[in-house]
Amino acid sequence: MHCPYCQVWIAQESASCPSCGLNVARADALLGPPPPLSGGIVDLAALVSSWQMRGIRRKVDAFQRQFPQVMVHVCVGEFPTDQPFELYAFWLFNRGAIGSSAPVGAENFDMLLVIDPQSKRAATMLGYGWENLLQRDQLEAVWSRMEPYVMQGKWQRGFLVWLDFHRQLFVDCWNRLQTPAEPAEPSPY
Ligand SMILES: [Zn+2]
Repeated sequence: MHCPYCQVWIAQESASCPSCGLNVARADALLGPPPPLSGGIVDLAALVSSWQMRGIRRKVDAFQRQFPQVMVHVCVGEFPTDQPFELYAFWLFNRGAIGSSAPVGAENFDMLLVIDPQSKRAATMLGYGWENLLQRDQLEAVWSRMEPYVMQGKWQRGFLVWLDFHRQLFVDCWNRLQTPAEPAEPSPY
């Protein structure tokens, strides 16, 4: 993953960023105690109407029926603007119930989307299981597709793009694993 603070690429086995030293303890020191998150869909600032919430829940439930190994978390709230927004996603993902109840390492297929509709920012964190399946450019492509919607204040549309993109990536990976490799042409020599 990219360091949410300085954007340097961090290898999976690193406990902290080799460039700026960011880890969960330092995120805590910067941001303070995390809100009491239970995972799932969380509206920290009462910004989501009940019909919007029902729509999000329906999409998340359908996704998780298709992929029971994936836990989808969506956190909508208002966050200070004095730190990189990705840092809040990192902090929420690794703290509280999301971090403590999740499988570890390559078994972790949790997905977190954090949205601040007021300041039109969003950030995402994925468990390491996803990072083993996906290329960096795929991880970056989802962002370039959803960001315009978030910037226009259409965060729900951004959420749908985010969820659909990961659904397609998972289906593609699954299909690739099910397809046996083509046997090599016998050598004429
Ligand atoms: Zn860093």
